[in-house]
Amino acid sequence: MIEEYFNHGMMRKALEQGQLEISLINLRDYGIGPRRTVDDIPYGGGDGMVLKPEPIFAAIEFAKSQDKSAKVVLPTPRGPTWVQATAQEYADNDEGLIIFCARYEGYDERITELVDCQTSIGDYVLTGGELPAMIIADSVVRLLPGVLGGETSAELESFSDPNTKEHPHYTRPSDYRGNKVPDVLLSGNHKEIEGWREENSIQSE
Ligand code: SAH
Repeated sequence: MIEEYFNHGMMRKALEQGQLEISLINLRDYGIGPRRTVDDIPYGGGDGMVLKPEPIFAAIEFAKSQDKSAKVVLPTPRGPTWVQATAQEYADNDEGLIIFCARYEGYDERITELVDCQTSIGDYVLTGGELPAMIIADSVVRLLPGVLGGETSAELESFSDPNTKEHPHYTRPSDYRGNKVPDVLLSGNHKEIEGWREENSIQSE
């Protein structure tokens, strides 16, 4: 699932250009016993299964041995929300990320001692950490120098200032089913266009 995602678009380009390297580690390879067990019932009772600490420690420690300066990121609804500024920080630091994807009810809390950053991608619950991991990676990779092509295209967009969301965009045709592109954008007057774009950006506090 993750390989497939990175096989397209900007992510693929980043891989091909060598700005990005990905290794996938299957937690099951670090499972315990002949059944390669990775989960167990929760202490204190309750529904669902919890990922055991031993396979997670072994997997993350292996990942760290491959990339000693890498930061360990844990997607979890319990963390602070992932924001553009954090993505920018990771892109600027140019360090590896080890992103641990949990499943089921979650993970044994004791793994958090290995974790540098806990983060939520929003106030809703998914079935696993894979989509959050891909979202986190995508948002960082597109900010790496040379990935987007136009070096300025990441600078002007939504959240580059945390309170600003970018203006709407239009392309040809100028009249689509009677719905017309704002005149100012066809005017060629750069100052007015700039003004329109500023007015139509969303500012929040
Ligand atoms: N029982 C947990 C949800 C577990 S979902 C709870 O109520 O909070 C299984 C895993 O998916 C989580 O441990 C986490 O790794 C990942 N996950 C689910 N939703 C997420 C979100 N909004 N942000 C980041 N990770 C999430």
